[in-house]
Amino acid sequence: MTKRILVTGGAGFLGSHLCETLLDRGHEVLCMDNYFTGKKHNILPFIENPRFEMIRHDVIQPILVEVDWIFNLACPASPVHYQYNPIKTLKTSVMGAMNMLGLAKRVNARILQASTSEVYGDPEVHPQPETYWGHVNTIGPRSCYDEGKRCAEALFMDYHRINEVDIRIVRIFNTYGPKMALDDGRVVSNFIAQALRREELTIYGDGSQTRSFCYVQDLIDGFIRLMEYEGNDCHLPHNIGNPGEFTMKELAELILEITESKSELSFLPLPTDDPKQRRPDITRAKQNLGWEPKISLKEGLQKTLADFQKRIEAQATKHSS
Ligand code: NAD
Ligand code: UDP
Repeated sequence: MTKRILVTGGAGFLGSHLCETLLDRGHEVLCMDNYFTGKKHNILPFIENPRFEMIRHDVIQPILVEVDWIFNLACPASPVHYQYNPIKTLKTSVMGAMNMLGLAKRVNARILQASTSEVYGDPEVHPQPETYWGHVNTIGPRSCYDEGKRCAEALFMDYHRINEVDIRIVRIFNTYGPKMALDDGRVVSNFIAQALRREELTIYGDGSQTRSFCYVQDLIDGFIRLMEYEGNDCHLPHNIGNPGEFTMKELAELILEITESKSELSFLPLPTDDPKQRRPDITRAKQNLGWEPKISLKEGLQKTLADFQKRIEAQATKHSS
């Protein structure tokens, strides 16, 4: 059955892919964003669609709209962006979660929270299952994001326990793909843009830290499966990520190979509290949702590259004219 769906952070990287998939499935989509990191051109392709509507609104303010489902994605995700104004990041995570949960309670909507693998911090358990409580610095430069997201999870569970709000929590591991902002500051967008511009690839630390990279379409498929899942444990957090694990040096080398770039590697200081390792245990998502990622890192990077190439060429033409 088609639904009326609110996507907060809908003009961002993941939000705009989610809006597109929901529209393709016949739903009505209300996209809400304050354009902090989101871009209008991400949603331009569906602006003429009569089932799509856009509203400029900040999630730290309450709002009343009649919807059946809410996907709460509003929050900057790149360390560069979320550390730019850490107090605002905390407000967005915490007050945004409260406002959206209040709305879900009032209109009886099902609500999904875009949580993160950052709730595991610099993990001492590897790979990370949902039962791991994490190893997080409460007072470091990443705390505004990590603790904001942990507080949001607590709020989601309390609204569920106390007010019977129908919640879902997805813990997203590093996701990449077309439409990532070129100036995003995250590793995949940095390395691809640097390789295409023949600039040095900036590796932080010695590049031995690991991450697991999920292609965006695999992630969106996981989101929707979790939203539709109604098993007894549907309210518990679900990891969604690709268990393939790569060092940042391996990622840089793969991107140089795919782009056929001759860029050099440069080694810069490791940011404070940068997690040493990250890899999802996806047993729960496999069992409950029948979900696992289908797109390998190489294949996903090739799809991403085509989109970056187009945008970097368009930028270069604009600057030279
Ligand atoms: P993004 O920065 O591209 O998108 C975030 C969107 O939220 C932007 O459109 C931004 O303008 C909007 N936004 C920020 N603050 C807002 C506010 N106060 N009110 C309304 N809108 C606001 O990042 P993304 O990668 O698309 O991430 C989306 C969500 O997924 C975030 O909640 C993020 O924490 C989570 N997440 C993403 C990843 C990833 O690898 N991409 C990993 C873990 C979690
Ligand atoms: N990183 C890097 N070079 C860059 C950007 C990031 O080596 O230009 C590293 C960063 O230190 C981290 C990893 O890549 O170890 C992933 O960083 P990102 O900001 O993409 O995500 P997060 O740290 O939140 O997982």
